[in-house]
Amino acid sequence: MAIAIALHKVHKHPDFYDTEVGNVISEKKLKEIISTTSEKYEFLELPKFLNALQTRKDIALLTFDDGNSSVFTNAFPILKSRKIPFAIFINTHNIHTQKPHWFEVIESAFLSSSESTIKINNMIYQLNKTKERISAVLHAKEGIKKNQYTTKSILQKLKISRTVAINDAQQSDPQLNKEQINILKKYRVTIGAHAEKHVLLSMLSKEDQKRNIFHSKNWIEKNLHSSCFAFSYPNGQTSDFTEYTKHILRVAGFSCAFSAIGKKINRQSDKYSLPRYFVWEDRYLDFISSKV
Ligand SMILES: [Zn+2]
Repeated sequence: MAIAIALHKVHKHPDFYDTEVGNVISEKKLKEIISTTSEKYEFLELPKFLNALQTRKDIALLTFDDGNSSVFTNAFPILKSRKIPFAIFINTHNIHTQKPHWFEVIESAFLSSSESTIKINNMIYQLNKTKERISAVLHAKEGIKKNQYTTKSILQKLKISRTVAINDAQQSDPQLNKEQINILKKYRVTIGAHAEKHVLLSMLSKEDQKRNIFHSKNWIEKNLHSSCFAFSYPNGQTSDFTEYTKHILRVAGFSCAFSAIGKKINRQSDKYSLPRYFVWEDRYLDFISSKV
């Protein structure tokens, strides 16, 4: 069976907060994942990986979701020197505007807020220790994903202005820019879509899903001059996309879509719901011991 790995950000020395809430992995762990996986699997470019799924069991695919610039600045030099191909799934709205994702705004606001408590849905969260901030930010992000509250309302509770939070997030962790993407393309990195905006597609109306999906593909093809045939579902869990989502992806001309459901890929796997292992810094050992 084949294996696909999903990562987000790669920092030189991420702190506890970043790894817990920001899906950040260290350069050291990235190198270890590559080395361990390479013992049993061969990393292939996405098009070759798809073609080989029917005939080979020893293949691996490395992917990065969201389009963070740390993939270029930190991961790319490592992957290039080891000749490891990879794919990046971008939210075209964020690349186009160079603005952070809503969850990055929330993460940075929780980090810089000087409030000592926050009340979310009648639950009071302490914000004194890092661990407390982590549970509060995770709770807030889940609530925003499910439309229980808005980014704006959480920022108000934290007494952080939207402009400040956006600037903080963008400065500490910018989005990939077109220049960086062009260099990655020369290395034959596959640029796929992660929808226009980072929203749960299953919660959108059919019309909005369709617009989001078509927009992301068209934007990549028009602005990055590369064909866009691969998709990865924002959030990536079973409940985050529907049969309709898959149908629209086929209609739009995508030939595959990846989830974040941690399983191996076999010949029978649905091309529009290809599983991937999310590897976090703290989940790294689990991954290495049980999956690879
Ligand atoms: Zn994502």
